[in-house]
Amino acid sequence: MITEDEALAHILESVKPLGSRRVPLAQARERFSARDIFAGVALPVFDNSAMDGYAIVASSCEAGKSQRVIGEQPAGLDRRLRIGPGEALRIFTGAPLPAGADAVVMQEDVRREGAEIFINTKVEPGEFIRRRGSDLSEGQKILGAGERIRPQTLALLASQGLAEIEVGGEARTAIISTGDELVAPGGSLGPGQIYESNSTLLQALCEKWGASVAAVEHSDDEAQSIEAALRRGLENDILIIVGGVSVGARDLVKPALNAVGAQTDLWRVSVKPGKPFLFGRAGKCAIFGLPGNPVSAFVTFLLFVRPAILRLMGAGADELPLRKYDVQLAEDLQNPGDRPHYVRGRVVQGKFTVVGRQESHALYGLSRAKALLRVAPGETLSSGATVSALALD
Ligand code: AMP
Ligand code: MG
Repeated sequence: MITEDEALAHILESVKPLGSRRVPLAQARERFSARDIFAGVALPVFDNSAMDGYAIVASSCEAGKSQRVIGEQPAGLDRRLRIGPGEALRIFTGAPLPAGADAVVMQEDVRREGAEIFINTKVEPGEFIRRRGSDLSEGQKILGAGERIRPQTLALLASQGLAEIEVGGEARTAIISTGDELVAPGGSLGPGQIYESNSTLLQALCEKWGASVAAVEHSDDEAQSIEAALRRGLENDILIIVGGVSVGARDLVKPALNAVGAQTDLWRVSVKPGKPFLFGRAGKCAIFGLPGNPVSAFVTFLLFVRPAILRLMGAGADELPLRKYDVQLAEDLQNPGDRPHYVRGRVVQGKFTVVGRQESHALYGLSRAKALLRVAPGETLSSGATVSALALD
């Protein structure tokens, strides 16, 4: 059986970033920049006031001395005014600083009498002035190729006057669930039947990580029906088929992949839950066979499908790992098995507590979990130990 790292390395080598495209900023959130971007506009764009108040010459503002107000500089136009010692200019936040001024005193620190102001505080040169380029200089790199575009990134791009950005493509995905025992939510259960929940889970996960879901369908455990669903699904960048990848007589996915001419690159990975995981390919389509037990489907999605989606979308290597954070164990934990175990837990005030049953069918515990903790084979962890958990949100 191969390790998680070997499986992931193979998957990431097999999927290549999709072609890039220009999109309006409003459509670029959570996508990945296709190229490095450099500032064309310095920030601040010009020297300006950080406060509503008066622009003055700091060296002429000794205590008790009045300054003569010679005009007003609003935001939004530059009146190209100039002041000298003993003079002040009424100014507003974001307004261009007049020539000659070297500080702004805020209006709360000023008493005005007609055209005179009296300053009740000590004024230092440079105070309440935002200098051109002090935040960002022209030519400075503002975004790297492969970096995720966040709301704050979008604001920065807008500040550069950009209305569009070139981003990596969007991975189109098809999801196929399999199993004779499954009934779509909304239907009624017969004896021996359960509701189908994996396609809901997987669609949400795909969309959460930026893939579009082009098709969701269900197939019975019947070779021809699985093959027909596979043929339709292979039109996409990613095909996820869930259930039927194990070793039972009704586990028909592997032979069906073979029958439709897809290659199986790897099958069975040393991970718990999720051992029967399968990865294959047909042309440009990356095929993921996930075990049907919901927790197994969830864990193998996060470990293997999510990074592939991100890679297809042009994510850089830094963007691929799930966020990790330190937690303190609230109880002893051990993994007597020979596969790494991804334990589901809740995290309250930095303390990790196992939540729910830890078998692969236990969906309720999974639904309450906030973090996954990887416990290595043979590892024993004591209550109170600090460990690194994988964040689910
Ligand atoms: P399988 O991987 O097909 O052997 O399925 C393993 C377990 O997961 C069985 O108990 C199935 O009933 C259950 N299962 C498989 N697919 C789904 C699904 N789409 N939704 C809910 N449970 C499923
Ligand atoms: Mg099945």
